[in-house]
Amino acid sequence: MKTVVTDTRRPKVVIIGGGFGGLEAAKALAHAPVDIVLVDRQNHHCFQPLLYQVATAALSPADIAWPIRSILSRQENVRVLMAQVSGIDVAAKIVRAGELSLPYDYLVLATGVMHSYFGHDEWANVAPGLKSIEDARLIRGRFLLAFERAEIADDEKTRRRLLTFVVVGGGPTGVEMAGSIAEVANRTLRSDFREIDPATSRIVLIEAGPRLLPAFPENLARYAQTALEKMGVEVLLKTAVTSCDRDGVSFADGRIDSATVIWAAGVAASPAGRWIEAEHDRAGRIKVNSDLSVPQQPNIFVAGDLASAHDKAGHPLPGVAPVAKQMGRYVGKLIAARAEHRPDPKPFVYRHYGDLATVGRKAAVVKLGRLELTGFIGWLFWSVAHVYFLIGIRNRFVIAVTWLWSYLTFRRGARLISVPDQRAHT
Ligand SMILES: Cc1cc2nc3c(=O)[nH]c(=O)nc-3n(C[C@H](O)[C@H](O)[C@H](O)COP(=O)(O)OP(=O)(O)OC[C@H]3O[C@@H](n4cnc5c(N)ncnc54)[C@H](O)[C@@H]3O)c2cc1C
Repeated sequence: MKTVVTDTRRPKVVIIGGGFGGLEAAKALAHAPVDIVLVDRQNHHCFQPLLYQVATAALSPADIAWPIRSILSRQENVRVLMAQVSGIDVAAKIVRAGELSLPYDYLVLATGVMHSYFGHDEWANVAPGLKSIEDARLIRGRFLLAFERAEIADDEKTRRRLLTFVVVGGGPTGVEMAGSIAEVANRTLRSDFREIDPATSRIVLIEAGPRLLPAFPENLARYAQTALEKMGVEVLLKTAVTSCDRDGVSFADGRIDSATVIWAAGVAASPAGRWIEAEHDRAGRIKVNSDLSVPQQPNIFVAGDLASAHDKAGHPLPGVAPVAKQMGRYVGKLIAARAEHRPDPKPFVYRHYGDLATVGRKAAVVKLGRLELTGFIGWLFWSVAHVYFLIGIRNRFVIAVTWLWSYLTFRRGARLISVPDQRAHT
């Protein structure tokens, strides 16, 4: 076991997770008299809102991911370590990460969430979820491979199964995935094959609830559904998937044969709540005080998707990037105040600026206070907002140019099948 020692005269802060929450916490501590260790099992920060574009070959992985080490390279009081945290000794104030022991005075848990298959973890192999660059590459490989295999399939039944794409879950990720798959099938690949017509693909979006986009107003959800249907996506509402296997999905009154099923329903928190034996909700999110500390553990804070927090009206805060960023920033400022012997900031209050989701090229739904945007204007707003929130001028430029190019030509540059995967068999 190797103990990571920092300057012992200053408070030691360990941040677990270099996502939106952890990164903002580290940045907010830039000028504080503390020594920070930020530990993440990946070497990169991923801009998850654009993962679906990697999964559907619009963007390359490096366009939406940046080495955490490089993002924080100019911040002298932080050390970045790549390691998987497996437990925390709360009494001894030590984080365990493989062979490493990381002592702390303040601990920030920002490990986010994972997919939940509602007790059916065996579905993960056949219906991958979208959470990381690896997931996106896996989905992109399966998705493109399905067309390749359909091109050489001997019989119509196999071809139909290969050209049927099912997305489970009608939240923003499911809507964006389904819309993007439809665009690739109907436009990008239209003239690339000789035996098959990709535009005859069947794309089905399955949602257990009564409507798509439950976080959006009903009229915008209806708009999104109509826009998807115009693109050829079948939307099945009030349909709970009862099983997933390598040949498709089943539900109470039917079955769809499909070689490509994508899971965009349900999240479960990382096991961090168990590491510190904290109270958590049904999804595993840790319940926090109004200063985002863990009850009875005043030096442990939670930021981002892992936190179960509520607004003033008692509604749970959504698992979105602005919540994670605001929480991370708040926790960083609070720890800085304590390190400088200043009073704590006021309790955390989340400021909600709006909700955005895109349905495809030229169509998006945007809700900003009372303002609602749809169609091309909504899509333009969505594009500008996402470019603005990316890290680094190079990525902003590359993505803006890539989108403009795709918009004008319907082309997608990242159509590589680079992950060995035998599942989409014929
Ligand atoms: C496909 C998709 C689309 C989305 N679209 C949007 C959108 O359009 N708008 C929006 O606002 N939000 C969107 N979100 C949600 C948003 O991305 C999350 O709310 C946000 O990433 C949460 O930040 P976080 O810091 O809590 O967790 P994350 O960003 O998930 O970061 C967690 C970090 O912890 C690390 N980690 C986890 N476990 C360990 C461990 N044991 N040891 C070491 N490191 C660990 C991970 O590697 C990761 O880097 C989307 C999410 C997904 C998955």
